[in-house]
Amino acid sequence: MRSFRKKLLYLAGSAFLLLLLLAFFVQKYDKSGTIDYSTYRTLVQSHMIDQARIGEKFIYLHSGPNVFKIPKDAVDLKELYQSVPIKTEANFDWLVDVGMLSILAFLVGYMIYYLRRQQREPIPIRHEIQIAPAQTPEEFKENIQPQTSDVTFKDVAGIDEVKEELEEIIDFLQEPQKYIDFGVRMPRGVLLVGPPGVGKTLIAKAVAGEAGVPFFYQSGSAFVQIYVGMGAKRVRELFQKAKEMAPAIVFIDEIDAVGKARGGMRNDEREATLNQLLTEMDGFKDSTGVVVIGATNKIEVLDEALLRPGRFDRRIFVSLPNKEDRKKILSIYLRRIPHRVDLEQLAQMTVGFSGAALASLVNEAALHALRSGKKRVEREDFERVKDKVLLGKKKLLSYDEKEKRIQSLYQGAKALAAYWYGVNFEKITLVGGSLSKVDREILSKNDYLAKIKALMAGYVAQKMVYDEVFSNSAEDLKRAKVLAEEMVLHLGMGDRLMADMQDVAQILESVQGELKEFFKNHQRVLEAITQHILSQESITKADIKRIVDEIF
Ligand code: ADP
Repeated sequence: MRSFRKKLLYLAGSAFLLLLLLAFFVQKYDKSGTIDYSTYRTLVQSHMIDQARIGEKFIYLHSGPNVFKIPKDAVDLKELYQSVPIKTEANFDWLVDVGMLSILAFLVGYMIYYLRRQQREPIPIRHEIQIAPAQTPEEFKENIQPQTSDVTFKDVAGIDEVKEELEEIIDFLQEPQKYIDFGVRMPRGVLLVGPPGVGKTLIAKAVAGEAGVPFFYQSGSAFVQIYVGMGAKRVRELFQKAKEMAPAIVFIDEIDAVGKARGGMRNDEREATLNQLLTEMDGFKDSTGVVVIGATNKIEVLDEALLRPGRFDRRIFVSLPNKEDRKKILSIYLRRIPHRVDLEQLAQMTVGFSGAALASLVNEAALHALRSGKKRVEREDFERVKDKVLLGKKKLLSYDEKEKRIQSLYQGAKALAAYWYGVNFEKITLVGGSLSKVDREILSKNDYLAKIKALMAGYVAQKMVYDEVFSNSAEDLKRAKVLAEEMVLHLGMGDRLMADMQDVAQILESVQGELKEFFKNHQRVLEAITQHILSQESITKADIKRIVDEIF
């Protein structure tokens, strides 16, 4: 509303000024025709001139509705005075010039002001959406207050590796001098990467709690949205406050809202905020004692600049909890609730649940028990509310026992084939885990075949073990076919140069044959790997190497 009125004012103002300018122009460069001396004489002698106005260079002769002009030099002024009434207040030419100049200056000034404001406010639309600013700039500064965190690692279940990585940071926050004296450069930024609800915020709070330092929470989207044009300023103030209270932790949730790779849609506001963040982090001295923890679930969209050394160069991946972790998280939330449940069973039925989902599951189940007049919460309560907890969220996977075994075999076969044929991966899990992209420019036929083998492995293994085909192989099979097509139709990697779909089929058939043979010869390894995934819900390359080495 506010901005709409402003815009209207600006438009009306500009229109008014333009009109004025035009009027001045008309007056100065009037269209009065120039006449020569003989015409002038004729006009004067026949008393056709009602009035004359003396300008700077011209004399303007008013004759009825017409105005003529003649250069001043050409006229004998004395004679003119005698024969024609002269308009004395006529000469305002200097005024015209001054007026015009000041209007021009005003217009230019206004343009500069307007453009500069535009730079700060790149999305005028947002003004309109934003009915009223949530806070005034003064309130902002007031509101940058740290929290004291009483969360410790005891409250965060099942993230042992993550905890280990953060121990050092906690130690640094507690005793920065130790590190400074030793000349060690501590990380300024730690990036927690993982899906929503896995406890990233909780972890950051725990770091603050363990180290006993103030915790500044900011969400990335707030920087960009709360008050247009304030993002950068807010970052500056936030860091200023944090430095005053150092050692301290600045936690920026959803950092991708600020640090999205530049390009694409321009958003000057976000860029200005991002640049300020980078400037602040670069300005840290090792003695500053401020550690920035960022959280995101989309590291791939982050601006390169954020990931450079000296910024968020330490990355910690937080994944969905596995079964053991889920047991721990469930037990934390069941601590204060009277219950009679088998944790093992509960953990089993909650594959794919995040920590946050588990917390709300326990709460909902307890409510359900209470409503049914029970003294304790039981498995049945969990089953009743499970779908409700998942409702509205992305449908999470929850396999039953048989499905779990089928899926474990599928993922196990994929992991084994990938390992054996040299397709890189970090970790394959029950619910996902992907093969790494090869980042080489030139790929061989063998590289392509290896990838196809990994993609078809689960399908072949299921056929062998269950003598059945399942729908969980659909995605991978599709990708295998696309790769095979590319090989033979475009890259000349089939038997014939002028290939058709038959050659594609041939590649897929021969891969299938080879995999069958391979799994027949490696049944025990495949079983061990399947078992590993069934119990751990994931497997790493190192795990596979260990299993393979043990069996051979
Ligand atoms: P994120 O920041 O990753 O989205 P949060 O830290 O906000 O997740 O987690 C939301 C809530 O879920 C937490 O406040 C906590 O109650 C619960 N939670 C998530 N992960 C865990 C965990 N590992 N241990 C205990 N509670 C957890």
